[in-house]
Order: sequence, then C-alpha cells, then structure tokens
Amino acid sequence: MTIAAVHLAKLRKIAGDRGWIDDPADMQPFLIEPRDKYHGRTPLVLLPDSREVVADIVRTCARHKIPVVPQGGNSGLVGGSIPPAGEILISLKRLNRVREKRIDNLAMTVEAGCILSDIHDQARDMGLLFPLSLAAEGSCMIGGNLSTNAGGVNVLHYGAMRDLVLGLEVVLPNGDIWHGLKGLRKDNTGYDLKQLFIGAEGTLGIITAATLKLFPFPHEKQTALVTVPDPAAAVELLSLARKISGSCITAFEIIPRIGMDFVTRHMPGCRDPITGFYDWYVLLECSSSLDRELLDLEKLVERILSEAMARELVLDGVIAKNQAESLALWRLRENLSEAQKHEGGSIKHDISLPISTIPDFLIEAGGLVAKAIPGARPVPFGHLGDGNLHYNISQPPEMDKQVFLDKWQDLNRIIHDLVKKYNGSFSAEHGIGRLKTGDMLRYKSPVEMALMRQIKSILDPDNIMNPGVIITDRT
Ligand SMILES: Cc1cc2nc3c(=O)[nH]c(=O)nc-3n(C[C@H](O)[C@H](O)[C@H](O)COP(=O)(O)OP(=O)(O)OC[C@H]3O[C@@H](n4cnc5c(N)ncnc54)[C@H](O)[C@@H]3O)c2cc1C
Repeated sequence: MTIAAVHLAKLRKIAGDRGWIDDPADMQPFLIEPRDKYHGRTPLVLLPDSREVVADIVRTCARHKIPVVPQGGNSGLVGGSIPPAGEILISLKRLNRVREKRIDNLAMTVEAGCILSDIHDQARDMGLLFPLSLAAEGSCMIGGNLSTNAGGVNVLHYGAMRDLVLGLEVVLPNGDIWHGLKGLRKDNTGYDLKQLFIGAEGTLGIITAATLKLFPFPHEKQTALVTVPDPAAAVELLSLARKISGSCITAFEIIPRIGMDFVTRHMPGCRDPITGFYDWYVLLECSSSLDRELLDLEKLVERILSEAMARELVLDGVIAKNQAESLALWRLRENLSEAQKHEGGSIKHDISLPISTIPDFLIEAGGLVAKAIPGARPVPFGHLGDGNLHYNISQPPEMDKQVFLDKWQDLNRIIHDLVKKYNGSFSAEHGIGRLKTGDMLRYKSPVEMALMRQIKSILDPDNIMNPGVIITDRT
C-alpha cells in the first residue's frame, strides 16, 4: 500500500513538530513485537499528544481511506500493534497524563498512554490499589490493556480489565470523539458502549482515556508455594482455599515440574525453596486490606495448608516470611516464559477451560502432543484460579528449532480442537490480533461472526481501523 506524499505531509502537520517520526531507524522499535514473530512497515509513526490531535488524524485518514494501526506499549503477544502493509502507526505514548484522582469515588481518570506500573504508583500514592498486574506492566499501557482486555495474576479476585473500568473516551473511526468518561457504578441507560471498545484491539476506534476503578490497598499479603500430587489436587485445593478464605484468595497459579526445572536452570537468582522432587507446584496468595488485629492472614493461610495436607492435597510447601521472599516466589512464576527460550523453540497456547475439566484436559492434551511430536515437552502453567493455562510446548531437545516451529499451526489445531471439545476458549487473555484470525473462523459460531462483522461495518465502514485484526473477511 502506498500513501500519497500529500496525505503524509498533512498528517505530519497535524501531529506537530515532536509528533511524528519517519526515519527508518527511529521507527524500527515500533515495528517489531516481543516474540519477534511480526515485522511491520509504515511510512510514518505519529505520536499525538491530545485527544483532539488523535481525532484530527483519524478524521483525515477516514476522508482519504488511509488505514491506521494504534499502538500502546507494543507488548501484545498476537501481532495486533504491528502494521503489516504500510499502514500509518499511531502511538499513544505521549498521551500520558493523569487527568483526575478521586479517593472518594475510588476512581482515577488517565490517558491511554499511561504505563501500567505508573498507574500502580499513582493509586498507591492515594493509599489505593489498581489491581491489574502482569509481567509486562513496566511497558504496557492502559489503552493497550483496555484494547486487549488484559488479565494477569489478580483476575481471580478483581476480574480482568473489562471489570476495572467505569468510563471511556474514544476517537471513533470517522474522527468523532465519544465522551464516555463517567465515574458511575450504576448506569442502566441502554447498551453499555464502553464494553464494545474493550477487547476490540483497536478495530473499532482509538481509546484516548479511561476512568479506572480503584480498591482499598491490601496491606496484608501472604504468599505460599506448595507442591501438589497432580492438577486434580490443585483444583481441590483451590475450592478449599476459597471456602476457608472467602474473597481473600487473590492469586492461584500452577507450575509443572518441568517449568520449575527450566526456571531454576536458566534464570539467575531463581531457586526452588522446596527440597525433594515433586510433579506440580501451586503459587497462592491471600491479601486483605483489613488490619492484622481484624484478620490474621498468616493464620488463615496456615489453616488452608494444614487442612490441605491432612487431605493429602498438599505434600510440602513454604510460606514467604517477608516481601523479599514473596517476590522471590513470584519470580519463579514470572520467569517461566523467559526460561523456556533457553530450551529452544516453544509453541504457545493461551487457553481457558472450565476449571473442573483442567485435570482431564491435561491428560488428554499430553497424549495428543506425544503422538504428534514424540519428545515434545508440554509446559502448562499459569492462572489456574481463572481456568487460564499457558499451554506452551517446548521442542524435543534434539530436534531442529525451525522444523519444530514449522509445526506451530498443526499443534495449535490439535490443542484448540481439544479446547473446543472441553467448551473452553482458544484465547483467554492475549486476544486475537493477526495471529488467531484463522481460529476465529474455525471456532466462533457463524452467528457470532456475523454479529461481529455487522458491528465492525457500522462503526468502521471503510475498514481503516486496524484492518486484518480479529476479523479478516468482512462479508
Ligand atoms: C512478558 C509478558 C507478559 C505478559 N503477560 C500477560 C498477562 O499475564 N496477561 C495478559 O492479559 N497479557 C499479558 N501480556 C500481553 C500484553 O502485555 C497485554 O496484551 C497488554 O495489555 C498489551 O498492552 P500494550 O500497551 O503493550 O498494547 P499493544 O501491544 O501496543 O497493543 C495491543 C492491541 O491493542 C491495540 N491498542 C493499543 N492501544 C490502543 C488504544 N489506545 N486504542 C485502541 N487500540 C489500542 C493495538 O492496536 C493492538 O491491537 C504479556 C506480554 C509480555 C511481553
């Protein structure tokens, strides 16, 4: 695709002096993503610093049918933020102001380019918590988190991004601005429009700001790493922990033996604190904003673990004695993907399942993988408490990396077909992007696809907003 020089000049003018880049070397960081799977191209990166400039850019692009790709922190894992065919890239990184902080409303209004970890700090300064938490929080941005409906490690208690928003401001594909920044917890006035844009991956408009929900800060935290005999025991442990702790259980992550081996072998400073050889680990965390005199979390976690041990759901374990020990336990979980890189190629799946079916799913999936690629090593880990597994498969050690990676589609098909059989989802938290559009056609019903196409056509009739993401064919 070629965009006329006259249009490029107009867009540069709208964006202003510091608002654009067209030097190929300077544009390069915007054109590759974390997994290095997608390499994009664009004649122009625009960096607007206000919603009005975003609106002006989009209005101009709409008039000339110029496609655009919005980008936040570029940490997405499905290729949605990379322009494949010379589209204009709109980076929201300069739209990064905090517009309003309201302790009494438990709310904060922020622009789309704010980095997630900065929002944590801002909320913390108010004595409050913004709970979305993921390993990319130092680079991902609120607009990207909204557009992917990001999940992470606290969904069990607080929900995903969709549950953490009160209002949105969006530049629509014709350049109009929808001012939906309400701070209301109750508002039954027709369709909930904000939910359309959350998880839309930039295909329906550009989010420029959001009013986020905040929560009392959980000053008390207890983190434990325990070993369990198998995933069925882990599922039972989750039920037990919920029963005993009520809403205090805020994270529940599963790690297989092979994952623990990888992370302790390859990641400096990562050490398994439990001696002995166990097949499965669970990292669980309970949190509370109540004072210790009102709720003794330490006793609560000890109670969960002693009851679980009596029922042989837990075999061994450690409870972190302080924040440093807690962080060391979390490092084991957060470094799993990185550690896998040292074991050659890895074919990834971000799936969700009804939690009760996970043990059977894992047995069946393991059998299918062994049959498809003998020696391939499944490393299923992640947010068991949400039914969300990162079912990653490391290559057989002796196999050529590229030969293994060439099987990506075949393995995806096997795992995603099985996920469908178990009534699960082939994309739990990373979205569709450009990576999983084929899966959309295979696994979504014709009725769902028709509805999505209709929504897209009404809002974006000329298909200028991130074309090729989520929906490929529009007829
Ligand atoms: C190490 C690592 C760990 C991760 N862990 C998790 C995890 O636990 N849970 C999870 O859910 N994700 C995780 N991710 C994926 C990623 O961090 C999230 O998808 C994140 O929400 C993306 O935010 P971003 O700002 O980087 O968005 P980008 O990657 O820039 O964009 C993502 C999509 O949103 C669109 N977009 C971006 N900004 C806007 C906007 N303002 N308006 C409209 N559309 C926009 C883009 O076009 C693209 O389609 C992880 C990624 C990495 C690298």
